[in-house]
Amino acid sequence: MNPQNGYISLIINTSAGASCEKLTVKKFIEYLQQKGFKVKIDYTESLSHAQELAAQSAVKYDCSMVIVAGGDGTIREVVHGLEGSDKPMMLLPCGTENLLANELGYKTTLKNAISTFEAEVLRPLDLCKANDKFFTSVGGVGFDGEIVKLVDMQRKGNITHLHYFWPIWQTFWSYDFPKITVEVENETVFSDCGIVIFGSISRYALGLPILQIADYSDGLLDLCIYRCHSKPHLLKHSLMTTLKSHRKSKNVIYKQCKRIKIYSDSPLKTELDGDPGPELPLEVTIIPQAVKILVPPQGKPVGMRRRIFRIFE
Ligand SMILES: [Mg+2]
Repeated sequence: MNPQNGYISLIINTSAGASCEKLTVKKFIEYLQQKGFKVKIDYTESLSHAQELAAQSAVKYDCSMVIVAGGDGTIREVVHGLEGSDKPMMLLPCGTENLLANELGYKTTLKNAISTFEAEVLRPLDLCKANDKFFTSVGGVGFDGEIVKLVDMQRKGNITHLHYFWPIWQTFWSYDFPKITVEVENETVFSDCGIVIFGSISRYALGLPILQIADYSDGLLDLCIYRCHSKPHLLKHSLMTTLKSHRKSKNVIYKQCKRIKIYSDSPLKTELDGDPGPELPLEVTIIPQAVKILVPPQGKPVGMRRRIFRIFE
């Protein structure tokens, strides 16, 4: 990256993130300016505004790259706004879960931001779509859709992991595992009581390796369906997933594909990247290699232990 190539567009969502992350963003701006880069800073007013800002940067001839400081929601909108552009993007993760940033191996430190920027390791990133909504990481139907709905209802600004405790507890005791039907490339692969997770990254919330072999740049969606009728069944699936042996279970269907359709007779909730998703029926597709993204050198997905530890840091 060279200051002569043009200015850097920095899109910041100020409502996301803890103060230590905001300090990282401030220090990183100072670092860029000391290196002679011109930085154009825009603060987002809404998620759709983040997408507009990215779309504007995508067509500016004198913009060399786009950096986004925010959580998964803001990052998703910036990816959508940059789709098809050859301008590289970089992340300064400031969210609660940071699903995509954790998958790419980002940390929230200044050192990590600088080494990522300087190493210039670029990877293509796929963008997923469910009906008319875009997402970069993971979506789900049923159990986790219900949790996200409850978290969203009580949400006032920035959320922490603690905000998930009661919604998880409540959903665990009230969820009755309605029947879901799933089609892959127009063929029905499942029609039973279960939980459906799909997306493009290997690690779910808290680093759970649900879509264990997902690759964010292979142009394929990963799909994991847990046949699940009861709470003990759900606990068993959770344990097997933590131990990374869920794909061997006869009650798990795991597929890689390009098109998924999901429907149910029950009004099940959906979620995309931790935000409420569209109503069923759902049609999920993928836009291969939608953007180019800077990844930390030798970056690999952050595991469960590390993520749980971070909650208490
Ligand atoms: Mg993939």
